[in-house]
Amino acid sequence: MSTILLVEDNEMNREMLSRRLERKGYRVVIAVDGEKSLEVARADMPDLILMDMSLPVVDGWEATRRMKADDALKHIPVIALTAHAMANDREKALEAGCDEYDTKPIDLPRLLAKIENLLTVATQECIS
Ligand code: MN
Repeated sequence: MSTILLVEDNEMNREMLSRRLERKGYRVVIAVDGEKSLEVARADMPDLILMDMSLPVVDGWEATRRMKADDALKHIPVIALTAHAMANDREKALEAGCDEYDTKPIDLPRLLAKIENLLTVATQECIS
């Protein structure tokens, strides 16, 4: 079973998405801001991180930069989630070190395809 760290400050979004991911068989751990996301990532070593970019304390951009600068965490794939489908958000997310990017409102089949793809790539890198 893969563990996903869901970083989301909005309680309604967080509960809805974590419930839907759990129903798909993922174990979900939660962080409510960017600073906490680093603590939870170190403690739980998730297989993948879903990172809302608009977060209190430390935003998703900065939290991702810190993860990708941390030798213990940088291998964990990060999918950036932004509410605004700005043309340069995708580029900005990839620059911050995110491995993938998607927009809200969540299209679950599309997001699941991205999650499964990144988990498969990560597994293949481990065994090769
Ligand atoms: Mn947010």
